[in-house]
Amino acid sequence: MRKDEQSQTVSNGIATIKIREVRCACADCGAHVVAWQGYKVSGWCENCGSYDVRPLPVPIVPLTGIPLAS
Ligand SMILES: [Zn+2]
Repeated sequence: MRKDEQSQTVSNGIATIKIREVRCACADCGAHVVAWQGYKVSGWCENCGSYDVRPLPVPIVPLTGIPLAS
């Protein structure tokens, strides 16, 4: 009997959470701070001390210098 090669255990458990720095704006004073986004955004405003920071929308930078060669 042939062994099932497709047999594999798929762990649909906890996904890997990547911590990354995100630019945020303080909800109180509007100052831009750097927070860390993992499971949730956690940051602290150095200006007013508030922990209520909101992630800034990431600007879409158009790629330049790419010739449309045919
Ligand atoms: Zn603030």
